[in-house]
Amino acid sequence: MAATGTITENANGTVRFTTTCMLCEQPVAVDQLDPQKVARWQAGEFVQNVFPDMSASEREVLVSGSHAECFDRAFPPDEEDDEYPVDAPQEAGT
Ligand SMILES: [Zn+2]
Repeated sequence: MAATGTITENANGTVRFTTTCMLCEQPVAVDQLDPQKVARWQAGEFVQNVFPDMSASEREVLVSGSHAECFDRAFPPDEEDDEYPVDAPQEAGT
């Protein structure tokens, strides 16, 4: 899975991946990437295999095409178990 974006070559031989955050609709980019790694990623390799040292927030850009902050806000990583509301009274008498 890879976000859709624009890959731009830098003068120093690295590339920059730019996309629009799907959540806040602001531009988001990861810069100074190895073009050969980007090619592997574009060919379908997992981001975590190609960029093992990349920060989670940068990886989020490549995977989901969104700012890590926006993604966390939309999909909280440690949501509490409130899917099944517990109606049973917690207090057992005295
Ligand atoms: Zn965003």
